[in-house]
Amino acid sequence: MIYDIVIIGNSAAAISAVNTIRKYNSSLSIALIDRENTKAYSRVLTPYYISGKTDVNGLFMVDEHYYNKNKVTTYFGSEATFIDRNKHGVHLSNGKILQYKMLLIANGAEAIKIGFKSDNISNLRHLNDAIKLRKYFLRSKIVAGFGAGLVTIPMMSHFDDNVKKYLIISSNRILSRLLDNESSEIIENSLVKRGLHIYKKENIESIENNNDKIIINLSSGVNLLSDCLIVGKGVKPNTELARDSGINIDSGVLIDEYCRTNDPDIYAAGDVAEGFEFATNRKIIQGNWLTAVEQAEIAAKNMLGQKVAYEGSIKCNITKIFGVGVAVIGIIDDDIYESEKNYNPLTDTYRKYYIDDAGKLKGVVMINNTDEAGIYYGLIKLNMLYRNIIKHKNGLNYSKVLKYLDYK
Ligand SMILES: Cc1cc2nc3c(=O)[nH]c(=O)nc-3n(C[C@H](O)[C@H](O)[C@H](O)COP(=O)(O)OP(=O)(O)OC[C@H]3O[C@@H](n4cnc5c(N)ncnc54)[C@H](O)[C@@H]3O)c2cc1C
Repeated sequence: MIYDIVIIGNSAAAISAVNTIRKYNSSLSIALIDRENTKAYSRVLTPYYISGKTDVNGLFMVDEHYYNKNKVTTYFGSEATFIDRNKHGVHLSNGKILQYKMLLIANGAEAIKIGFKSDNISNLRHLNDAIKLRKYFLRSKIVAGFGAGLVTIPMMSHFDDNVKKYLIISSNRILSRLLDNESSEIIENSLVKRGLHIYKKENIESIENNNDKIIINLSSGVNLLSDCLIVGKGVKPNTELARDSGINIDSGVLIDEYCRTNDPDIYAAGDVAEGFEFATNRKIIQGNWLTAVEQAEIAAKNMLGQKVAYEGSIKCNITKIFGVGVAVIGIIDDDIYESEKNYNPLTDTYRKYYIDDAGKLKGVVMINNTDEAGIYYGLIKLNMLYRNIIKHKNGLNYSKVLKYLDYK
């Protein structure tokens, strides 16, 4: 059989594509391939499972009837190994070849691994990683994190205060790829107050097993004894499939504003895709859930023949770290934009707004009061003038601001 649409992946982008296709069309045949043998789950929620705030069922985005109900043929536990563009076929690790009319590559990204081997070391990307880390969560008295990003730090903040925590980072400040200097300093101060020991400008030279623990030897000569090491050294998009079939890639699979690759029958979305960023118009892998959902929706609409262009992705990270709410929306770049900030030391509440030459709001950093982050996401996408937003900064409300809707 030839499937109308084959999707590689079963996560944020893939499920968004299925939902969009079925919203408009109930008859096209859809096949979905994923090397993980499970219904779709949220990676974002895995720290909550590890820390026991939800059971494993709380991670799933869909129930067991979802695929049948949506007439999706699933190939779970099978890896797509090759895309034969001439024959419109996807080769699977079990020897099957699925024929497609159109293909969506939504195979995401993989956590970067460090070379050291030990049962006590884990990345956090997949459900299996979460199941492994859950065991460590229950028994650890000392934990270490390697990497100063949005996986390690939020994950470590789920451990109890009486668990000793080490954070090893190669840069000189935490969340350096996400935040400006001031905001990362504010967060760092509050993490240190909560007992986090941070080792900056460090690398791991070696790791030794020590009974059921590990000793982590740092480049400075410091040795840390720990029950486990959580590695968050970034992710690498799964571009090999596209590359081996001659699809254009740069850091990710290159897509145009219709989320289509250089092959007119092949689209890509999510963490594997490098597409336009709203505001800068440069191509970027945004690496967040919302972008995966939005790009896949656009890809699906175009596969259905609706000619819909994506207005571009924007950065959107909203999280809680050791009880501190942090939201980073849009472009945070002191070299490009003017900024305006306010900080209340009593409440540790910090806001920094990035504004372009035309007075439009381009980005915002929020610390300790992130309730309005979703509203700011919408306002930045709407190209709103900062002066019209700021009038309402104490009690921002979409409807109050939208009356100033002004694209000039
Ligand atoms: C711990 C954690 C916390 C996060 N927190 C946030 C957050 O707070 N906010 C946010 O916006 N984002 C967050 N993210 C990032 C977010 O999860 C990703 O942006 C999102 O999952 C991307 O979705 P995707 O569908 O593009 O790809 P993925 O979720 O990576 O899924 C790709 C799927 O493709 C499958 N696959 C890969 N290669 C193949 C192949 N060759 N054959 C078959 N199947 C294959 C994989 O098994 C996987 O199921 C977090 C991620 C992690 C790990």
